[in-house]
Amino acid sequence: MAGRMRVAEQRACLHCGRHVSRDFRRTFGDNENRAHRCRNCDTHTRIAHGSAAGVTVDIPDPETSLGRHGDGSDQVVDDGGERA
Ligand SMILES: [Zn+2]
Repeated sequence: MAGRMRVAEQRACLHCGRHVSRDFRRTFGDNENRAHRCRNCDTHTRIAHGSAAGVTVDIPDPETSLGRHGDGSDQVVDDGGERA
């Protein structure tokens, strides 16, 4: 009797293991409503771009770019104002 073949619904973030709401998984997760990342381990911006669905997002991962927030606020504005 191979009874319980059905895979249990994945309710935890696949990355950090934290519980994620069904609503979050349905909105941001992959086709099987699994969250690859969650608000505990990733930024809202990356999640909004698909990181929770397992998509590789071209935005710095908060876990691999500690100390930076990737908002570009430290960039040097160099228009000088001197146009001769
Ligand atoms: Zn997570």
